[in-house]
Amino acid sequence: MRIYTGKGVYGAVAIGKIAVFKRKELSVKRFHVEDRNKEKKRVEAAKNVAREELQDIYDKALKEVGEANAQIFEMHMMMLDDVDYNDSICNIIETQAVNAEYAVAVTSDNFSEMFSSMEDAYMKERAADIRDISNRLIRKLQTDKDENTLEMDKVIICADDLAPSETVLLDKDKVLAFVTSHGSSNSHTAILARNMNIPAIIGVGDEFLQEISDGVSAIVDGFTGEIYVEPDEKTSKKLLKKQQKDEEKRKLLQELRGKENITRDGKKINVYANIGSVENIGAVLLNDADGIGLFRSEFLYLESKDYPTEERQFIAYRKVLESMAGKRVIIRTLDIGADKQVDYFGLKKEENPALGCRAIRICLTRPEIFKTQLRALYRASTYGNLGIMFPMITSVREVEEILSMCSEVKAELINEGVEVSDKIELGVMIETPAAAIISDMLAPMVDFFSVGTNDLTQYTLACDRQNPEIEDFMDTHHEAILRLIATAADNAHKHGAWIGICGELAADTSLTERFLRMGIDELSVSPSFVLNVRGAIRDIDLTK
Ligand code: PEP
Ligand code: MG
Repeated sequence: MRIYTGKGVYGAVAIGKIAVFKRKELSVKRFHVEDRNKEKKRVEAAKNVAREELQDIYDKALKEVGEANAQIFEMHMMMLDDVDYNDSICNIIETQAVNAEYAVAVTSDNFSEMFSSMEDAYMKERAADIRDISNRLIRKLQTDKDENTLEMDKVIICADDLAPSETVLLDKDKVLAFVTSHGSSNSHTAILARNMNIPAIIGVGDEFLQEISDGVSAIVDGFTGEIYVEPDEKTSKKLLKKQQKDEEKRKLLQELRGKENITRDGKKINVYANIGSVENIGAVLLNDADGIGLFRSEFLYLESKDYPTEERQFIAYRKVLESMAGKRVIIRTLDIGADKQVDYFGLKKEENPALGCRAIRICLTRPEIFKTQLRALYRASTYGNLGIMFPMITSVREVEEILSMCSEVKAELINEGVEVSDKIELGVMIETPAAAIISDMLAPMVDFFSVGTNDLTQYTLACDRQNPEIEDFMDTHHEAILRLIATAADNAHKHGAWIGICGELAADTSLTERFLRMGIDELSVSPSFVLNVRGAIRDIDLTK
């Protein structure tokens, strides 16, 4: 047995035989042509066929993975008509009197190299898209009707890398999993794999492809990112069990997919998902959440060695918004401090960090950090339905300062000619007793509240959430907490705001009915709990 490790981009187990993905190598020869116009016309004709193909792929992707993901192919269609790209092809034909295939291949190399050398991670990824459309164009010029050859008999596809169009063309019914030597979890390919629910591992390294061959048995564990080639009996048994357990769980819950989060008496509740990174979107879609109720943006800061730039943040926020295709996405501004320490912030050591300089307190005392994040958020706002919320609020003054900074950032961007949505919702977290008690004063200032029960419990019960010694005192169902939530719900509604819960308690189905009776409008939970909560809501009758 040989074990290879990469990055699991979709958690599930697949057991089967390997098929090495054979890409038909394109060989492009350079030759002299007399009739340059004829070559240019050939390019136009090839583009028309390529465009039709891309339209078919787009339609397939739209059906299988939704509009946001299908947009990649819309982008490919646009790239095909890009003026610079086409000018380059025509110029090469014109100046060198060469065949169209050669002009496309050289243009492809030039453009993909240019994208690869860009700093910006998102632009870097576009190099693969350029190669993908150029190869398609070359195949059409060579009137090669064959797409890349894929063994299609329930197999684990192994490849050096897969282009987005190759990924979407995989027949979901015949592909057990895919494993690639290269690829980044930021790539459209990884996003597609997640959204197509195909167990997938990327970045297993170069040796992998050299050491495997068609027909060899293997097990892919998308949870751990491990692939076992020629697994021994013990490993096979263990992973078969893991697979069966996972499938049973999915099956039971999947029955609730597509159903509404509606009580027996017809009240609609939004069930959203909490995420910590862009990578979690696949799980959000798989579990059919209505939106994202909490994107813990501080993970962007925790993953970095230095402050994430405005551009990096913008890309992350845009990706989440685009992937959710118009569903509400609530991004929480950074909540650093207490248990989430980041060296480069240079925070002073504190006696009681949970009561110290954390979350909004850092943002308001270091406005340059806060402003960078707000600019990224406002810039991303036109890519979806954005809500921004602020953690650790205790006073009206803090909210006034926040709102004034938001207005400043918005005006600044508009001044710079950047488009900003005028539908962004602003909300505050209710996670301190102070915020709940003055929720009548806060509600008129915002569009929504989101209750952070993890901190609300800690601060209300004076119980450090990090301290396992006092767990017995940490009564999450304590009447004081429930009353504070009820107060916030009443005050929100009195002032036309909506209210959700995004702390862990939102997933506690023994409280779902109580929350609904308080008037809670939204529950935001880990993606894997979404369907559980949906089930609980569907059992409740608020008239009884
Ligand atoms: C909370 O406090 O309930 C919450 C959702 O925020 P975090 O757990 O990230 O502090
Ligand atoms: Mg909190």
